[in-house]
Amino acid sequence: MSKKVGIPKALLYYNFYPAWKVFFNELGAEVITSGNTCKKIIDDGVKSCVDEACLPVKVFVGHVIDLKEKGVDYIFIPRIVSIEPKKYLCAKFLGLPDMVKCLVPDLPEIIDTKIDLYKNDKSLMREIVRTGKKFVSDKAKIYMGYYKALEMQNKFEGIMKMGFSPNEAIKSLEGEDVKVINNGNLKIALLAHSYDIMDDYICMGIVDRLREMGAFVYTIEMIEKNKIEMGVRKLPKDSFWTYGHDILGAGQYFLDNKNVDGVITVSAFGCGPDSLIEDLLERYYKRDGKIPFMSLTIDEHTGEAGILTRLEAFMDLLRWKKGEIVI
Ligand code: SF4
Repeated sequence: MSKKVGIPKALLYYNFYPAWKVFFNELGAEVITSGNTCKKIIDDGVKSCVDEACLPVKVFVGHVIDLKEKGVDYIFIPRIVSIEPKKYLCAKFLGLPDMVKCLVPDLPEIIDTKIDLYKNDKSLMREIVRTGKKFVSDKAKIYMGYYKALEMQNKFEGIMKMGFSPNEAIKSLEGEDVKVINNGNLKIALLAHSYDIMDDYICMGIVDRLREMGAFVYTIEMIEKNKIEMGVRKLPKDSFWTYGHDILGAGQYFLDNKNVDGVITVSAFGCGPDSLIEDLLERYYKRDGKIPFMSLTIDEHTGEAGILTRLEAFMDLLRWKKGEIVI
């Protein structure tokens, strides 16, 4: 019988799930994901974590508990230090497997593959082989799984560049016929970590809400890398966190080109990197004064009504600015 590998539907699930799934499937394992975030998952995560942890980490821990209850053989919690040369991810990703082991007792075996591309050295392949050997002894099969995973990652990113959100791209890769209504007359850049805006429970389906209100929504994943880099080149100083770099670069790109009607940032309460990135962007937009900017902070107590009211008010402001409504 094939081994079951659990993948929590949280944090970088939204950035890498299709590739991770292909890798484990190629090794003969069955991949099980945790359920959608719900009150129980949040409550379990909040109860198990220290108060100071950011919301996405609390949610992640809740998803790990969900997988434990599903009776999987392994839970995949990679130790992600860096996903590109000369940039790091936030320190929470580096310590995630250790943090989870300390917080949740009686877990199945954690697969803590170390991903560190900071120096672009060969350590990643060693880690891939170490991980693969839990399932098969044939190295060629492990390499094949890895290359198929890379192919899948390229395909996944290509779909998102066509205007699909990570959730929609995942569904499309799973064979669903996904139709995106992304044709509003107001263009909005929604600059945030995918795990903050793709989890419909913690962010109230913000992408679809904005689309329903008549916005064409750009998320970070939909923006070409060269545009982000164009923005970064204009910054007085780059961020050494990959996702902070992308958010700042995209923000600066839209500010320079004036090709969106408004910008919304979403950050999680308790997130150190985002408090800095968001504050910098807000200052740049205020100084320029041409494009409306709104920042939203979410936590485990955020209510739907509060978010919706702010989105509606922001959309009204953009319509008023375009002369479409009179206030
Ligand atoms: S970047 Fe912020 S939200 Fe993401 S894991 Fe780190 S502290 Fe949490």
